[in-house]
Amino acid sequence: MKPLVLVVEDEAPIATLLKYNLERDGYRVVDARDGEEALILASEHKPDLVILDWMLPLLSGIEVCRRLRRQNTGAALPIIMLTARGEEADKVRGLNAGADDYVTKPFSPSELMARVRAVLRRSRPGSEAEQLSCDDLVMDLVAHRVKRANRDIHLGPTEFRLLRYFLEHPGRVFSREQLLDAVWGADVYVEPRTVDVHIRRLRKAINNDGERDLIRTVRSAGYSLDPHGLGSA
Ligand code: CA
Repeated sequence: MKPLVLVVEDEAPIATLLKYNLERDGYRVVDARDGEEALILASEHKPDLVILDWMLPLLSGIEVCRRLRRQNTGAALPIIMLTARGEEADKVRGLNAGADDYVTKPFSPSELMARVRAVLRRSRPGSEAEQLSCDDLVMDLVAHRVKRANRDIHLGPTEFRLLRYFLEHPGRVFSREQLLDAVWGADVYVEPRTVDVHIRRLRKAINNDGERDLIRTVRSAGYSLDPHGLGSA
């Protein structure tokens, strides 16, 4: 099962941004808007990771962090503190209260997601998929390499992300718009037709002559990774 992340943030736009990025990367998310709700949700849902804002109503992030650490279930729970404060003294206070990592606002979502993966890798060794595969195609997420039938496949960054997204959701059909949101980002304006161009490049890269086409075109619906060889529909 995908790791569950508890997001504790009282500023709605930031909470939404966090939730969007986490879900896009396949995490499950529960969110709390204040410190007391955070403690309740943490004991109810037993999350795998907490992203915890420092300035919160009712109980500060530091206090939530300390209380989680005092509980049996929270003693080993990874916590990333999020804060507008950038001073070294605050960072030390946060880490002393038991936070595993510390991210200063404003943060870049991709950097935060990298921290999330790193913290989870440390706390759940071996639990995160390091390889994704479909049929005879294998994507190595650590080495950032793709092979099909043991030959190296060279992909551009967009094709790599596109293929990764398909591999994470085998068999699911995505519209061009859904792929744009997931792979290019919702805030980037790109013509839906651009997706077709990248799908064409991806197909050309991964399918040799005589090999089964792993990407299925679903007429008037979009595309999916085809793990069972159903062919085009
Ligand atoms: Ca806040």
